[in-house]
Amino acid sequence: MDAYDVVVVGSCMIDLICYAPRLPRNGETLYGTNFVMGFGGKGCNQCVSAKKLGANATIIARLGNDSFGQNYFNKLKEYEISTKYISITDGTPSGMAQITVSESGENHIIIVPGANKQLNESDVLKATEVIETCKVLMCQLEVSENATLKALQVKSNSKKGISILNASPANIKMNPLLFTLPDIFCVNETEAEIYTNVKINEQQHAVDAIKILLLKGCKKVIITLGEKGSVYGEKGNSNFICVPVLKVNAIDTTGAGDAFLGALSYFLSKHSKLDMEEMIKRANNIAALSVQKLGTQESFPIYYEVPKHLL
Ligand code: ADP
Repeated sequence: MDAYDVVVVGSCMIDLICYAPRLPRNGETLYGTNFVMGFGGKGCNQCVSAKKLGANATIIARLGNDSFGQNYFNKLKEYEISTKYISITDGTPSGMAQITVSESGENHIIIVPGANKQLNESDVLKATEVIETCKVLMCQLEVSENATLKALQVKSNSKKGISILNASPANIKMNPLLFTLPDIFCVNETEAEIYTNVKINEQQHAVDAIKILLLKGCKKVIITLGEKGSVYGEKGNSNFICVPVLKVNAIDTTGAGDAFLGALSYFLSKHSKLDMEEMIKRANNIAALSVQKLGTQESFPIYYEVPKHLL
C-alpha cells in the first residue's frame, strides 16, 4: 500500500442549520424560513481541505449507526476519501451541531459530540501502519483526548513524517504532553489566549503568546489571526515571522482555520522543500479563497480553482 500524504485522526459532525426571523424564546415554537444540512467537524474539514487540493488523505473517525452517519459515509465516498478507518458505533448518535440563525445573524448552537468521543486508542492502534507511514498526521481536540494522544505518540515513535496538532476547541485542562508531542502546534488567536493568558490584539501579542507556548515545550507554533494572516515561531530561533494574507472580500469565514490546516498539510506532504514561511503564506492565501464562498467544506478550493503560483 502506498503511504498516505495526510492522515487525520479526528471528528465528523453533521451541522443542522435552521434559519428563522429571530431566535425563539424559552418554550416558544417558531416557523423557520430555511433548513440546511452541512458536513463538518474539524477533523473531516481539514481532511477534505487537503484532499481537494490534491493530497492523498484519509481520516480515522467514528460515526453513529444512524442516517446522519450513513449520509456522512456517502459524502466521504463522494470526496473519494477512504472510509476504511471509519467505525460505525452502535448506541451513540453521530456527532452533530444543532444551529439556529436569526435574520440579524445571532445564533444558538448546541454541539453533541456523540460517536466522536468514542474514538479510542484501539481505533488508533488498528491504523498504526498508516499513521506511522503517512507524511503528515493531523489531530484536533474534538475526539477523545486518549485517541489524540495515542496517535501523536505512534507518530512520534515512528520517527517518520510530521505531526500537527490543531489544539481546538481550546481545553485549558489539556494534557501537557499535547504541547510537546506534535511537531507543529497550531491555534487561532482566541485559543492562543486561553492557552497562554496573553490577550492578542496585534501581531506582537501573538509573538508573546508563541514564546509562552515554546516554553511549554512546543517545537513549532503557528497562531492564525484571521484577516491579519498568521504568525510563526520555532524552538531555538529568535526570529518570529508574521505572514500576511491577501486582502479579500470575506463573506463567510466559517472553517477558515480548517482550510488553512488542510492546505498546510498539503504543502508539508507534497512540497516539503518549501520553507515554513512560504508554506504558511500559501496556506493563508488558500484559506482566503475559502472565505470568499459560503459554507465550510464546499468553500474549500479544488486544486484546479487555485492559481498555479499558490500550489
Ligand atoms: P479560525 O477559523 O480557526 O478562527 P482564523 O480566523 O484565524 O481561524 O483563520 C485562519 C486563516 O484563514 C487566517 O490565518 C487567514 O489566512 C485566513 N483568513 C481568515 N479570515 C480571513 C479574512 N477575512 N480575509 C483573508 N483571510 C482570512
